[in-house]
Amino acid sequence: LLSEADILIVGAGFYGATLAERIATQLGRRVLVIDRRRHIGGNAYTEEDPATGVEIHRYGPHLFHTSNEEVWNYLRGFTGFTAYRHRAFSTYRDKVYPLPINLATICQFFGKRLSPDEARGMITGQAAELGDRPPANLEEKAISLVGRPLYEAFIKGYTAKQWQTDPRELPAQIIARLPVRYTFEDGYFNDRFQGQPVDGYTAIFEKMLAHELIETRLGVDFFDIKPLLPKDLPVVYTGPIDRYFDYSEGELGWRTIDIDLEVMDTPDHQGTAIMNYADETVPYTRVVEFRHFNPERQHKSDKTLIGREYSRFAGRADEPYYPIDTRRDQAVYRRYLERAAAEKNLHLGGRLGTYRYLDMHQAIGAALKAFETVLEPYFTGKLDSVSRSP
Ligand code: FAD
Ligand code: UDP
Repeated sequence: LLSEADILIVGAGFYGATLAERIATQLGRRVLVIDRRRHIGGNAYTEEDPATGVEIHRYGPHLFHTSNEEVWNYLRGFTGFTAYRHRAFSTYRDKVYPLPINLATICQFFGKRLSPDEARGMITGQAAELGDRPPANLEEKAISLVGRPLYEAFIKGYTAKQWQTDPRELPAQIIARLPVRYTFEDGYFNDRFQGQPVDGYTAIFEKMLAHELIETRLGVDFFDIKPLLPKDLPVVYTGPIDRYFDYSEGELGWRTIDIDLEVMDTPDHQGTAIMNYADETVPYTRVVEFRHFNPERQHKSDKTLIGREYSRFAGRADEPYYPIDTRRDQAVYRRYLERAAAEKNLHLGGRLGTYRYLDMHQAIGAALKAFETVLEPYFTGKLDSVSRSP
């Protein structure tokens, strides 16, 4: 198989599957996709829960959203999307508030009816404690966006549980993921295109990889077959970059999540898909109730499946989920990039391969771009290497 393939793709997540699909269908090349797990889909993998019949997101809840029309159109070639628009809530000191922080959250938290201007004026006043300095880390960015009282209620404790890292060590972009709104609009995302795949995420990957030129082998670890690789075979690697280089430049910080699943003896446990818990005294970050991702389906079970999420540092034997990306991590990552640049047949991609907090649409978008700027030029003789600094 290895000798027949034109390229080896390590990882059947969105980055790997998108490139495999493009290379097979657009260039007519043979692609071998391997994944160390026994299923396709990477962290977006979904399957039916036998006890309740609901679709479970095995590695944590996945919500599709994008403003990138190219990605949206591309993905719609493999799935339809439901009309689901994500809303979330946060429980703080036994009261429930809407997320992301919006005018309803602000009015409810301060116990006042505030107009958009009044609310903005109040938060700007609170954020003035930072002076004119641009926010340099997660804590400062959060205070600049919502002021200290809301930061301490909704962000500080949740972030402490999620990252167990001083929020002054964490990059500001983590919190910039969440919108803050001075309207009562309470959708979690601002993106133009949103929805859940009609038949679940795994069905998307089945379609993407269903091509005669794509061979998918599961339960295969790249490092077991690495010594067997033909010398010039190009490799797309979407696993953790530090693992690729055997941690020689140091370990990168990753976080993982343990999801504690429980079938509840009620058809509806919490009335919504995701409830965050802001208090540090509650050990989990959030509770997900999967059936609410698919309100369009007829769920016959009178039971419901929930998952409590516990976040912790990932060791080498764990599945890395989130890059922590402290300043130290960034320095280590730069050293790996230098090592990668010296490897002609290696293309690093995806959330783990480029150590970036990529959402699904960003992983797909990055793969489409890599196809255009690296893989296609490579296979048509315009580039002599698949490597590229991510
Ligand atoms: P992955 O999906 O991680 O795929 C990499 C694959 O490589 C894995 O299957 C792995 O097994 C395989 N691999 C690694 N090492 C090896 C090896 N040595 N040999 C063989 N195979 C190997 N995005 C959103 O847009 N919306 C969300 O709501 C959302 N929620 C998320 C919630 C959680 C808890 C997590 C962890 C992520 C979430 N994401 C979300 C992000 C989304 O999962 C990623 O954007 C997407 O999975 C990235 O795809 P990828 O191909 O880069 O990586
Ligand atoms: N966050 C928070 N409180 C919340 C939700 C999010 O402080 O109730 C912060 C937290 O630091 C988190 C980040 O915002 O890591 C990004 O949240 P998001 O919901 O995008 O995280 P993900 O879905 O990727 O876990």
